[in-house]
Amino acid sequence: MKDKRIVILGAGISGLGAGYTLRKKGYNPIILEKDADYGGLCGSFEIDGFRFDRFVHLSFAKDTSVNAIFKASSPEIITHIPNPYNIYKGKWVKHPVQNNLFVLDDDEKELIINDFLKRPTEIPKIENYEEWLRFQFGNYFAEHFPMVYTRKYWMKEACELRTEWVGSRIYKPSIDEVIKGSQTEDTPVTYYAKEMRYPAKGGFKAYLKELAKDADIRLNQEVQSINYREKTIKTKDGKLYHYDELISSLPLPEIILMMDDVPLDIKKSASELENTSGYHISIALKTKNIPPYLWWYIYDEDIIAARVYSPSIKSPDNVPNGCSSLQMEVYCKEGEYSEKQLLERTVGKLVDKGIINEKDILFTHIGFEKYANVIFSKSVYYNRKKVQGYIKSKGIKLIGRFGEWDYLWTDQSLLTGLNVKI
Ligand SMILES: Cc1cc2nc3c(=O)[nH]c(=O)nc-3n(C[C@H](O)[C@H](O)[C@H](O)COP(=O)(O)OP(=O)(O)OC[C@H]3O[C@@H](n4cnc5c(N)ncnc54)[C@H](O)[C@@H]3O)c2cc1C
Repeated sequence: MKDKRIVILGAGISGLGAGYTLRKKGYNPIILEKDADYGGLCGSFEIDGFRFDRFVHLSFAKDTSVNAIFKASSPEIITHIPNPYNIYKGKWVKHPVQNNLFVLDDDEKELIINDFLKRPTEIPKIENYEEWLRFQFGNYFAEHFPMVYTRKYWMKEACELRTEWVGSRIYKPSIDEVIKGSQTEDTPVTYYAKEMRYPAKGGFKAYLKELAKDADIRLNQEVQSINYREKTIKTKDGKLYHYDELISSLPLPEIILMMDDVPLDIKKSASELENTSGYHISIALKTKNIPPYLWWYIYDEDIIAARVYSPSIKSPDNVPNGCSSLQMEVYCKEGEYSEKQLLERTVGKLVDKGIINEKDILFTHIGFEKYANVIFSKSVYYNRKKVQGYIKSKGIKLIGRFGEWDYLWTDQSLLTGLNVKI
């Protein structure tokens, strides 16, 4: 064993990935994790035989090294062909709505298609996501669909967001596809990932087994301060760890709060980095009678959830025999809604709309995640560069979704850890 003291902050997929790579190189890093279990956002929890992940989580990794680790962790995998649906004005609409208008009323189809046809032929100068949406889809569609969804999912108005993150995430149909989709339900699936994979047993967290095997993970170790001059870390329970190398997957704003003497302009930039947070509301059901879709988006604003998915469709191993489950995602600040409001405006609405039956509900559970997605607000790249530059100048390496401060999927987060250099 090489005797460098390496400390990794966070036992999510990126921190575990860094540990995996470094162990292969002969080091023995310590991983400090605040929670009572490893996994971070890839973790899961179990109640009375029902297993729920922390938000939707399916793998569409292409990288061979990532897939080899996932396969070694979970040899048995369930493959799903994505075919999500949407709820709009109480109707089930195939995804994405823009090229699947078939079930909408004729008046609304006409408004959407007319606006689509009126779009400028030349690409205009685009300053923000709202302008991008209006250009891609026309005004009516932009205003009634993605701009509403942006409010729910990104906790922002579309005009407050940049566009670099969009990439292939949003389908951009031709006018022919829009017209065809308004005439027939028989349209091809155009989701950006062609297949989604999930461990047959053990929830999404099962993919992390190989990474966690032999790792020196210290659980319940919430890091509170970092002294980069003395190269020490203090945890909430007063433990002191010395390091020669420090790798962090913790959110950038949190790291800044842990360091002394941070210049004011860096503190300001860190405080301007924004992220979404949110509740997952899990529902255990004593029936298998739920909508047949693996996941669905909700445009209707009386339901505060942006998205619903079914852990039991991901894998039947997630529920006891004869049962099923759903999890709803509500993005908002902690405490923005009371528990009663959260349940009434999510689960209660599914009951009101006849999507599930109240008598089938065994229990519900509410969980909160402080860090979900990085928000691509106007100054994000400027602030990210300043904050990362400062942290790195103090010898701390940054990995993961919240160290990179980027819209990274699990495979991308893992790769930032696997590729860490000492
Ligand atoms: C709603 C949602 C849905 C998603 N769906 C998918 C999907 O379907 N497919 C996909 O590939 N990706 C998905 N992702 C992305 C995926 O979750 C991330 O890319 C990945 O989990 C990030 O891993 P990480 O290790 O970088 O961060 P995290 O998982 O956040 O790990 C950071 C770790 O640091 C710990 N920590 C924080 N503060 C401290 C502290 N002070 N002291 C010690 N430890 C601390 C945390 O507890 C956590 O364990 C989704 C993300 C969200 C939010």
